[in-house]
Amino acid sequence: MELSLTTEVRMVKGVGPQRAELLAKRGIHTLEDLLGYLPFRYEDRIHFSNIRDLQPGGTYTVRARVMSGSAVPSSVRYRKHDAIYHLLVQDSTGSLPCKFFHGGYLEGRLKPGQLLVLHGKVEVDRLRPARIEMVNPQMELLRGEEMDSTEVGRIVPIYEAIGMFGSRAIRRAVYGTHFPPPDESLDALNAFRSPAQQRLVFEEFFLFQLSLGLNRRAIRRENAIAFAVREERIREALKRILPFKPTSAQKRVLAEIAADLERPVPMNRLLQGDVGSGKTIVALEAAVIAIENGCQAALMAPTEILAVQHFLSARRILSRVGYRVELLISGLNPSEKAAARERVRTGEAQLVIGTHALIEEDVQFNRLGFVCIDEQHRFGVLQRKRLMDKAAVHGIAPHVLVLTATPIPRTLSLTLYGDLDVSLLDELPPGRTPIVTRISSQQNLPGVWGFFGREVAAGRQAYIVYPVIEETKLELKAAIKEFARLSKEVFPKLRLGLLHGRLSSDEKEEVMQGFRRNEIQVLVATTVIEVGVDVPNATVMVVEHAERFGLAQLHQLRGRIGRGEEKSYCILIAPTRMSDEARLRLETMVRTTNGFEIAETDLQLRGPGEFFGTRQHGDLGFDVANPLRDRGLLELARREAFQLVEDTNQGPLLQQILGALPAHWQRRYHLARVG
Ligand code: ADP
Ligand code: MG
Repeated sequence: MELSLTTEVRMVKGVGPQRAELLAKRGIHTLEDLLGYLPFRYEDRIHFSNIRDLQPGGTYTVRARVMSGSAVPSSVRYRKHDAIYHLLVQDSTGSLPCKFFHGGYLEGRLKPGQLLVLHGKVEVDRLRPARIEMVNPQMELLRGEEMDSTEVGRIVPIYEAIGMFGSRAIRRAVYGTHFPPPDESLDALNAFRSPAQQRLVFEEFFLFQLSLGLNRRAIRRENAIAFAVREERIREALKRILPFKPTSAQKRVLAEIAADLERPVPMNRLLQGDVGSGKTIVALEAAVIAIENGCQAALMAPTEILAVQHFLSARRILSRVGYRVELLISGLNPSEKAAARERVRTGEAQLVIGTHALIEEDVQFNRLGFVCIDEQHRFGVLQRKRLMDKAAVHGIAPHVLVLTATPIPRTLSLTLYGDLDVSLLDELPPGRTPIVTRISSQQNLPGVWGFFGREVAAGRQAYIVYPVIEETKLELKAAIKEFARLSKEVFPKLRLGLLHGRLSSDEKEEVMQGFRRNEIQVLVATTVIEVGVDVPNATVMVVEHAERFGLAQLHQLRGRIGRGEEKSYCILIAPTRMSDEARLRLETMVRTTNGFEIAETDLQLRGPGEFFGTRQHGDLGFDVANPLRDRGLLELARREAFQLVEDTNQGPLLQQILGALPAHWQRRYHLARVG
C-alpha cells in the first residue's frame, strides 16, 4: 500500500484497529502523528556490557539468555500481581540475577535459552551483599526472526509504551525513521543534542512561540475601553476600599495596571506574587477602576471554596462604595443560578465572582470591561481565552489580569505566559513573622498534638492535612477516619471540622464558614485547601504523610498559615526512612519559605511537564522539546518567532509558513485560525 503522511495509523503495518484506538487516545491519528511520537531515549545495542564487568550503581544494557525464572509472593498475603519475579540470565562471561517487582505477570512467559536484552540499574543484593542484581530492568525478548536490524547491532530507539502497544512494537511500526546513523553519539542522542533532534526541538518551540506572538499581536489589534484612572472620584473610591496600607510593591503594581487600563488596547498582564503577598486587593482595585468607568468586572477562581471566599471579602470591602457583587458557581440551586445570571446579563451585577461556571455557554455579560483570573496555573490557556471571548461579543476586548503564586524562572515563564506582560509583587505585607517549619515523625505525634492543643487553646486555629479522603490499601491515614479518631480520642474538647473534595458545595461552604468564624478551631482537610484559602487566625498546620506531597503543593498548603501577625508553625509528619527525593523536598521546606527558591528545587526534581501539572491539560505538553534542557533553543525560537510576527515586510513569509504547517501543529496551537 502507498503510505503518505496523512495515512490513518490503523493502515500502518504492525498497528491495526485495536492499537489504533490506543493511539487515538494519545492524539495520534495519522502516520505523521505516529512519526511525531519520538523515542524518549536511545540504547546502544552495538556494544553490550559483559555481565562480568557490571558494577553496583551503574546502568547497563546486557544481552543474555534465560536460565531460570519464577515468581515469589512478596508478602504473606499472596496477591498475584504483587509477586516478585526472579530471573536468572547468563552471557558468555557470567550470570546475573534480575528482580521484577509486581512481576507476577511474567510467570510462565520466559523459557530457558531465550535471548533477552535487559537494560537497568545494577544494585547490591540486600540479603547477600557479596552479590549484585539488576532491579526492574526494561526487558525485550529477541525472537528468532527479530535478530534483524531493528533490535540489535545498532543504536535503538526506546519509546514510552502506549497501553499494550510496547516499545518494540512501536519501533517496528515506525522502522526507518527514528533510527539514527551508526556514527551518531549515544550521549548526544540521549541529551537530545543530535542535529536532527535539535531541529525538531526548535520547530516545536518556534511554532509554539509563533502562536503566542500571533495571539499577542491579535490582542494588541483589538479595541478596549480606555478607562479614566486619574479622576478624583476614582482615587477616592480606591482609597475608601483599602482595608490596610498597601505595600510599596502593591502600589507599584497598581500603577503598572492603571497605565494599561488607560490605553484603548486590552491589558494582557500576569501578576506574579508569592502566596500571601496580597494579590487579591490589587485585583479588586483594578475592578473598582472598571466599575467606576461604567463597566462590569469578573473574577474567576479555580475552586468553589476560593470563589466563595473572594465573594465574601469582595462584598465586605466593596460595600464601602456600594457596588453589587454577584457569585456564580455550579453549586447554586437552579433558581438562584437563573436569577444570578439574569443580574449578570442586565448589568445589575457589577462585579461577578465565580468558578468555571462563568464561562459556561449561556452566561452573558453586560459591558464586561475587566477580567481577572486567579491562580492561573489551575486553568488552561483556552479557558482564559473563553472568558475573554465573553466580553468580546460587543466588539470590545476586556482588560485581562491573571494572578499566579507559582514563581517561575524566566525561561519557563516564556513558555507558559509568553504572550503576557509581567508584574511582580515581591514584598510581603508588613508584620508577618516567618513560619517555623519542622519535620517530625509518627512516633512523635503525641508531643506534636500536645503543642498543637496548647496553640489552639490559646485562641489560634489550625489545619491538619491528609493525603487521602478514605482509607486505601496503601495504608495511608485518611481524613475521614482520622477526623473521627481525633475528635473522640485526641481533642475531645476542641471543635473540629472536616473538609474534603467529596462534600457538596453547600457542605463545603458550611464548614468553611464555621472555620472563618472560628466556630471550628481545627480543620481536618485534604488538599482542597491548597489554593487561596485565607483565614489569618490559622497559625498551625500539621501535614501527615508529608513525604507524599509535591514541593509546590507543600508550599501552597503552608501558605494557608503565616497570614497574620502571630507566629505560625508548620509540622511535616514523615517516616524516618524515606526516599532521597522526599527528604530533599521536606528539607527544602524547612530551609526556606521563598517561593522562587522552592520552585527552582521543584523544577530540578520534577522537570517542567510535571512542574506545571500541564500534562493533563495538553496545552503545553511538548513532545520533544523540554524548556529546561533546551533553554538556549527556546530563547532563540522566541526571538525568531516574534521578529517574524512583528516585521510587516515578512507578512508573505508568515502566511507561507502557516499555510505549509502540518495538520497536527495547526490543531495544537490553533495556528491556522489565529493567522
Ligand atoms: P495572595 O497573594 O496569596 O492571594 P491574599 O491576597 O489572599 O494573598 O492576601 C493575603 C493576606 O494578606 C490577606 O489576609 C490580606 O487581607 C492581607 N493583606 C494583603 N495586603 C496587605 C497589606 N498591604 N497590609 C496588610 N495585610 C495585607
Ligand atoms: Mg490568592
